[in-house]
Amino acid sequence: MPSKDTPNSSSRRGSSMTKKNAFCSFCRKSYRDVGPLVEGPGDVYICGECIELCQSILDQEQRRRGPAKSLFTDIPAPRKIVEHLDQYVIGQQSAKKVLAVAVHNHYKRLTNEWEGGSEVEIEKSNILLAGPTGSGKTLLARSLARMLNVPFAIGDATTLTEAGYVGEDVENLLLKLLHAADFDVEAAQRGILYIDEVDKIGRSSGNVSITRDVSGEGVQQSLLKMLEGTVANVPPQGGRKHPEQQYIQLDTSNILFICGGTFVGIEDIIRKRLGKRMLGFGSDSGHRNEQSDSDLLAQVQTEDILQFGLIPELVGRLPVISYLQQLDIDGLVQVLTEPKNALIRQYQELFRMENCELNFTEGALRMISQHALEKNVGARGLRGILENVMLDIMYELPDQPEGSQFTIDEAIVAGKRKLFPMPTSKSA
Ligand code: ADP
Repeated sequence: MPSKDTPNSSSRRGSSMTKKNAFCSFCRKSYRDVGPLVEGPGDVYICGECIELCQSILDQEQRRRGPAKSLFTDIPAPRKIVEHLDQYVIGQQSAKKVLAVAVHNHYKRLTNEWEGGSEVEIEKSNILLAGPTGSGKTLLARSLARMLNVPFAIGDATTLTEAGYVGEDVENLLLKLLHAADFDVEAAQRGILYIDEVDKIGRSSGNVSITRDVSGEGVQQSLLKMLEGTVANVPPQGGRKHPEQQYIQLDTSNILFICGGTFVGIEDIIRKRLGKRMLGFGSDSGHRNEQSDSDLLAQVQTEDILQFGLIPELVGRLPVISYLQQLDIDGLVQVLTEPKNALIRQYQELFRMENCELNFTEGALRMISQHALEKNVGARGLRGILENVMLDIMYELPDQPEGSQFTIDEAIVAGKRKLFPMPTSKSA
């Protein structure tokens, strides 16, 4: 083609020609920040990030124009959901059941709406999961999303700040969901967003940082808006909003929010409430007060969460509350061995790839679990401990004869014995 039709084709220069003081005309970031810019006619530039974003917006538009795809042909029954979760998450039966029912109803409600709805409007039920670190809150939410094949993202409430303070806006949580959906707005709007550490933004929480509003209430209010359902303006580049920015509009009314928190000390609040109540009835308060913390947690109610410092409106938007138990030694051993992608199975697979076999004694598994228990981070500590135990072994494995069988016992876990005798290079 002659250059007549593209008058400025000569000015569409490659990166090497970009002026050092040029700015991307879309996101206003400088050449120094974003690297090479593509130049258009009349001193217009675009950076790689914005090109990618434009592409995803075009893709999204393409998808929207395509045949309307129905998301679910069949919403799994709560029992099926629990069966699926059982493959990945050890224990936590009560939370699984509560989640399964809530999620089933949520997506039933969505399909009902798409099919024209009925006179009875079913309200959305966002979910609050209370339970210690490493008990499986995030894993439950993630496994659910995977089963339902919906976009899933994880955010942390403690990174949020009230507008005007240093930190993140709630819209950045939605941006994560958009990313997970490949910027398919429709898909993101029916995704699952897990927000961790909501207990840390409570009014009475001692964890409020000075960069955030002191009461935590501003943050709770903005979370509330998102949970209630709003059309949020999500800055596709992340970061703080500014007037010249382009936004992607995301309707949050059908996003399922699962909030998680450890709510440390809530047992005392529950104990007090139960104590009071029983005093009122003049019943067996002494007996009940001896209940273990996990028995108490099983009785967590909205009013306990309120006492913890979350504002009533926010708690009102989290009508489904469930709790997760701290995993004990037996539970941790199960986590190591039983889930479909259990850590031990992963190592065994690595050995199989080298045509070797790996086994663990019961004692070794219990010792690893005991170490994790002492760290007080639940199952989260298992991976690190196991990786430490396995490091030298994985280093030596490729040099071992094919068909070898190896057993990890307590002495190896404790570091008292090595699986492979070290080469005696010094004596050589
Ligand atoms: P949290 O309750 O703090 O959200 P996570 O779900 O992030 O805990 O757990 C951290 C890791 O520990 C998970 O990725 C998983 O490997 C393991 N884990 C925790 N709880 C369980 C469980 N109940 N069953 C199986 N694995 C678990």
